[in-house]
Amino acid sequence: MKSSTRSLGARNAVLAVVLVLAGLAAQPAAAEERAKDLFGAEKLPTATDPQSFGFYSKGCFAGGVAIPMDGPTWQVMRPSRNRRWGHPAMIALIEKLSRDAVADGWPGLLIGDIAQPRGGPMTSGHASHQIGLDADIWLTPMPDRPLSMAQRESMSATLMVDEKTHLVKDALWTPQHTALLKRAASYPQVERILVNPGIKKKLCDTVKGDRSWLRKIRPFWGHDYHFHMRIGCQPGSPTCKAQEATPDDDGCGKPLSWWFTQEPWRPNTNPDAPKARDLMTMASLPKECRAVLDAPGPASAEVATYHGGAEPVAVAGPEPEAPSLPATTASSTAGLPSAASAFTATPEVGVPVPRPRPPAK
Ligand SMILES: [Zn+2]
Repeated sequence: MKSSTRSLGARNAVLAVVLVLAGLAAQPAAAEERAKDLFGAEKLPTATDPQSFGFYSKGCFAGGVAIPMDGPTWQVMRPSRNRRWGHPAMIALIEKLSRDAVADGWPGLLIGDIAQPRGGPMTSGHASHQIGLDADIWLTPMPDRPLSMAQRESMSATLMVDEKTHLVKDALWTPQHTALLKRAASYPQVERILVNPGIKKKLCDTVKGDRSWLRKIRPFWGHDYHFHMRIGCQPGSPTCKAQEATPDDDGCGKPLSWWFTQEPWRPNTNPDAPKARDLMTMASLPKECRAVLDAPGPASAEVATYHGGAEPVAVAGPEPEAPSLPATTASSTAGLPSAASAFTATPEVGVPVPRPRPPAK
């Protein structure tokens, strides 16, 4: 009895040592926790001045605000994802677009993903949308009734492009679709709008008169049920990394014809390879993103919900202003070297694998 107890005790001691060793071994892995899990778990933004850190596909942002779930000229889709957050300039611009679009004859906006409350890599979908300056708008007109929360989760968007020919389905495309994209491209702070190559071709083939705005309309994989509106770095974000300017022509020539060859549509030779956003650790992001994670939030989402068009929307272009996280976090960001040159941009073009369309559900 005694000996058996002793041997059990010894075994427990061995087990304890094994557990301690396992714990030690696990520590480095925990320290490199995936950034998408940390940012994906944030429910609220930081209660600080708005500021974007890093690049569209490698960064985060502070001082985000939410677009209300409903407005007179918009409805937010897929609300359970909690991605209706953005830089205040982005949210104000979406509201403005919704009003202008209705005046142009579009029934109102169905708003898709903008960003997580503090940005960062997302738990699913999207390489970009990380710094509060990207938004997806559905190409499906808003119904003339408020959708229930369940309908917003389940309603399918309209697929505008034939998957075989990569051309727009003519029965679905209307002059109002063109007007909506033209309106979005008309804002000086909008730097580029991503659409499926078929949609770009439709515009190239049909837009008469002023074609200067076509410069901002950029063909990209996916984007066949929504378009993606990207604004430039905003004042007060000195480490926001601007994207290269689009070429100064309508983009309807050779670069577009490439999309109608076999090359962009070859099957992915390594479909199971992890995506960049799945691999990013905190070390992959600008250093300030740690402070963004640690910064205090507002009392509720409602406190940080944007109401009203009084806030000015700045024209694109970073301004050399000092960062302005509040005193509670300033100590952890002050004195850090600028992160702007510490990472490289990952441009939208040149990504070698087609991004599969998210399942229609
Ligand atoms: Zn997008």
